This record gives sequence, C-alpha cells and structure tokens, in this order.
Amino acid sequence: MTVETTSIDTLVVGAGQAGVAMSEHLSRLGVPHLVLERARIAERWRTGRWDSLVANGPAWHDRFPNLEFADVDPDAFAPKEQVADYFVAYAKKFDAPIRTGVEVKNVVRNAGRQGFTIETSEGTIEARRVVVATGPFQRPVIPPIAPQDSSLTQIHSADYRNPGQLPEGGVLVVGGGSSGVQIADELQRAGRRVYLSVGAHDRPPRAYRGRDFCWWLGVLGEWDAEVMKPGREHVTIAVSGARGGHTVDFRRLANQGITLVGLTKSFDNGVATFETDLAENIARGDENYLSLLDAADAYAARNGLDLPEEPEARVIPADPECVTHPLHDLDLAKAGVTSIVWATGYALDFSWLNVDAFDEKGKPKHQRGVAKEPGIYFLGLPWLSRRGSAFIWGVWHDAKHIADHIVTQRKYLAYYDDSQRHAQGGSEQSTGNTSADSRVHKVSELGVN
Ligand SMILES: Cc1cc2nc3c(=O)[nH]c(=O)nc-3n(C[C@H](O)[C@H](O)[C@H](O)COP(=O)(O)OP(=O)(O)OC[C@H]3O[C@@H](n4cnc5c(N)ncnc54)[C@H](O)[C@@H]3O)c2cc1C
Repeated sequence: MTVETTSIDTLVVGAGQAGVAMSEHLSRLGVPHLVLERARIAERWRTGRWDSLVANGPAWHDRFPNLEFADVDPDAFAPKEQVADYFVAYAKKFDAPIRTGVEVKNVVRNAGRQGFTIETSEGTIEARRVVVATGPFQRPVIPPIAPQDSSLTQIHSADYRNPGQLPEGGVLVVGGGSSGVQIADELQRAGRRVYLSVGAHDRPPRAYRGRDFCWWLGVLGEWDAEVMKPGREHVTIAVSGARGGHTVDFRRLANQGITLVGLTKSFDNGVATFETDLAENIARGDENYLSLLDAADAYAARNGLDLPEEPEARVIPADPECVTHPLHDLDLAKAGVTSIVWATGYALDFSWLNVDAFDEKGKPKHQRGVAKEPGIYFLGLPWLSRRGSAFIWGVWHDAKHIADHIVTQRKYLAYYDDSQRHAQGGSEQSTGNTSADSRVHKVSELGVN
C-alpha cells in the first residue's frame, strides 16, 4: 500500500524498549512524533530469542519506572513473552503513536532545507528529526572461522529455540556469555553431549548477602559507569535468571557433564581447535566474581548495612578435569557432534540510514545519542552514555536526555519561525510547533496500532 507523503516533527524507528521509552518522553514533553516498527512492539523479545529465556535481571529491576510487571513476582525473572507484553502494556498506558508493520528503508537529509526524507514500506515521510531505536543487537554474527561443512547444522543463538530443533547428537556451543551458557545448560539438561567454548568473561554472583547483583551494580555505581575499563571490549558477561536465577559457575557446568574448552580457534577437516586459554579465562572470571564480593563488603561496611554475612560465597571449588587437562582439538564426527550453536554476538546494521552520522569505520558518531548529523539521534546502543544504556532500565534515562535535547532544538526553531513571521509582518504567535507539526494529523490518519 502506498501512502501520500506526510510529515512529522520526530520519527522514531523501532518499537522495542528503546522506541517505547523514547515515545513516552516525547509524549510527556508534547513533541509530535510517530514510531515506526517493521514487525510488532518488542518483536525481538517475542521471536528473536529462545523459548525458555527469562530476563537476566529480577522484575523489580528490569523494567521502566511507573509500571510494574503484571503477574511476575518482583524478585522473579520475567519470561520473555511477559517482557514483550510489558512493553505493549506500557505503550498502551500512554497511547503511544506506534505504527507496526512498517519498515523504514531509507533516510536521507534534505538538500537546502531542514529535516529528512524517509522511505518506508508504506510510503514517504518527512521528519525534522529521526531517532534510531533499532536495537543494540541487530545482525547475528557468525565468525569467518565457521566450517564450510554441510554435514553439520550451524545456527546463531538468535535462531536457537529449543533442544528439539537440533538434530540428534552432540553440540558445540561457541561463546561463554549469558546466551552461550544458558543454551549449553539447557542442551545438556535435555540429554545432549555438550562442549562449551569459553572466552574472556565476567561472572557476577547472582546474589550476595541477600541482594541481587543488579542491586549491587546499581549501588556501586557500575551501571552508571561512563566508559568501559580499558581492554574489556571483548569481555562478555555470564549471568542467568533461568530456573529461578543462579550464579553462573563454569565448574558446576563441567561437573554437570558439559566439557569446557578454550576459545575456538579454527576448523580443519572436521577438527575443531581451541586456544590454550581456558584455565586463564576461568581464573579471570573468578577474579571478577571475587572483586564484586569485595566491593559489596566494603560498601556494606562503609554504609553500616545490616546484610547477612555470606563467607561460603568465597569458596571456589577445585578445577574440573576439562580445565586442568583441556582439549586442544576435537574431531567433531568422532565426538558425535552434529551441531554448532554460535553464541558469538551481534553487529549493528545501519544500511538504511544514509546520513553523515558515522565515523570512518562506520560506527555511529554521537554524544550521549546526539549524532554529529544534527537531527539524528541514536538510542539503545551499548555504552551510549553508560554501561546500562542497552538495558531496559538504562535506555529510559538516555531517552529522557534525547527528548530534552529535541525540545531545546524545537525552541530555537520556534524562535526562528516567529522572527520570520514578524519580518513578513505576520502577527501569529508561535506555540512552539513548527510548520511540520501542523501536518501531524495526516500521520495519525495512517492509523497507529
Ligand atoms: C538473549 C538476550 C537477552 C537479554 N536479556 C536482557 C535482560 O534480561 N534485561 C535487559 O535489560 N536487557 C536484556 N537484553 C538486552 C536488551 O535489553 C535487548 O537486546 C533489547 O531487545 C534491546 O531493546 P531495543 O529496543 O534497544 O532494541 P530491539 O528490541 O532490538 O528493538 C528494535 C526494534 O526495531 C525494529 N526495527 C529494526 N530496523 C527497523 C527498520 N528499518 N524499520 C522499522 N523497524 C525496525 C525491530 O523490528 C525491533 O523491534 C538481552 C539481549 C539478548 C540478546
């Protein structure tokens, strides 16, 4: 269906948690806007993740202000469908102008006049500003070392749903972050022989002294850290809310029957080879775990918090055989491995955004989400302003900052519009709405759902 060209002050692309948070702040500040979502609200929580996934943080924490989860205990971990339902309910709460089933295909800056022209799957839109809320995890990445072997089933964690989806036989799971660990655990519990390739990782305790790690990272200021510690770019975080939540402990996974291996290096003639870094990766993960306990104890002492001592949390069990005598290679066929699950992360994809908002490496160039191209904003990216930026609670604050920036820019433009009217002898007072805003009703004629 083609629609007439129409205009809006601010166009938000994507209606995941970032798009919904953005819409809430813009609505609150009276900024006319429209959110376009190519699928459904919070689609990635519905269809971009495995069936048994629950939130990594407890429901009291992994949510927006002003709305609690329906039917989820605040200390429990919301199943992914309920996370998606939560964002739908949140959008309904303030009647967010979200149009689903419309894909943004191209954005270009207008020549010689303000704003952007946006091509969508349903026609063309003009907008003064565009907020890019298309997610921190857009394109699943499988590294080039993946074997070209048609006898193996290979999927990315984004396409993993449940153990029954994989052919009979063993599975090599590559990646020791939250996804890899949880998928490996589920496969092993379903009776599969599992090899888990573990790289550099952090593994905070699920809870310590009666408080979830989300609480500790909050009070210790870690979610608000503005820059990543040097050398941590490739360090993933291994946490799990599965089965009521537990600390990710690689030794426990090994004792349960999973064979841990180091970072996957290469595949040659059906043989996988691994780096010799497994014990070191596990030891670094322990260091991270223990350092959080130290910081938590120091915080509790300094602030006189009456929290139960938990000395047993510091007991680190002995390394299992697969860590002390690690495999350096694995003949996949001989080991009965028929599938590989690549839990190796995601890349960004802004191929539809043809504006000057990127650096020479194609990375978004921005300050707290305000892009170097005036009028373009990024939201929801990892470390956009702080460590929490790509997470549910963090995106809220970044959306607020961007909404404030937009309001300020609108004020400057309103002043320009007023002064132009005066110069032309007009007497009309500006309400702060720009000429683009007066055509907002056309947008709502498209229908929002
Ligand atoms: C396995 C996994 C578990 C996670 N668990 C948690 C957790 O427990 N707690 C937490 O806080 N965070 C968690 N996260 C991190 C983060 O919260 C999620 O990735 C979340 O989905 C990010 O929300 P978003 O709105 O920024 O992006 P997305 O949810 O990816 O939403 C972006 C939306 O944009 C749409 N879109 C993209 N391109 C276009 C286009 N061109 N036109 C129109 N629409 C478009 C997409 O369809 C999508 O709906 C998890 C991430 C993963 C991968």
